[in-house]
Amino acid sequence: MICFSHVNFNGRTTPSRTTGSSPVPSPLPPKYLPPKYRTMPSLLFKCIPFIHPKPHPFPLSLVTAMSTKTKTRLRGVVFDMDGTLTVPVIDFSSMYKAVLGETEYRRIRQENPSGIDILHLIESWSPDEQRKANEIILDFERLGRERLQIMPGAAELCGFLDSKKIRRGLITRNVKEAVDLYHQRFEIVFSPALSREFRPYKPDPAPLLHICSTWDVQPNEVMMVGDSLKDDVACGKRAGAFTCLLDEKGRYCSADFTELDLEPDFKVASLAEVHSLLETNFDLMP
Ligand SMILES: [Mg+2]
Repeated sequence: MICFSHVNFNGRTTPSRTTGSSPVPSPLPPKYLPPKYRTMPSLLFKCIPFIHPKPHPFPLSLVTAMSTKTKTRLRGVVFDMDGTLTVPVIDFSSMYKAVLGETEYRRIRQENPSGIDILHLIESWSPDEQRKANEIILDFERLGRERLQIMPGAAELCGFLDSKKIRRGLITRNVKEAVDLYHQRFEIVFSPALSREFRPYKPDPAPLLHICSTWDVQPNEVMMVGDSLKDDVACGKRAGAFTCLLDEKGRYCSADFTELDLEPDFKVASLAEVHSLLETNFDLMP
């Protein structure tokens, strides 16, 4: 008589010919399977070769369980805003030139090829110079708010995180008014959402550590996603979080950034890629 009794290492059911009580040995005796699968009806596994392109030694459900066990738990994602959750519309180079003047801009840019930290730079200026600089920065940011556009993939990614009950936070060096407008315009709310009124701001890890503390999670259970290596990735790494750099145009391939010695854990060209990245690499557990 022919009966199907178990699954072998290529994931297929193995017909075991039995003569009375003496079964003919098959390629994989049941004892090599995990206990719960030794007596399970083989029909359950018949679909495996059609689901999995490469037949796997164990039933798919077990593979899933095993891979889930080895993944790192992720409980929250923190986003940068400008250029990450929004289409980049602020012309930062023009802003720096307007604040510093053309000659000073060129000099400082040469000394800092990976980018200028204008907020920190003006902190050492006189109160009057700071006031003028802040007015220029605010003008550029106001223009940015007028042109505000949500980044493609942002709404879908947030919807996915919500479906998994994964926390969503936001850290920006922009002002609270810009965050409020984002929340209101796109009806996607991040909590906590820390703007530059929270000191110290990125790349200091303080805002990210504050969010982790508010959520009561560990930094290594959180991912920081942003389009700035020197601000977002630096902040995430200093806090001990996972980091994901959004590099839409491949600008970080330049040698200008190698001296920063900041290697993000992940690099994507669009927010749409973050979705599969999270599912593949993490156990998304709130
Ligand atoms: Mg940004």
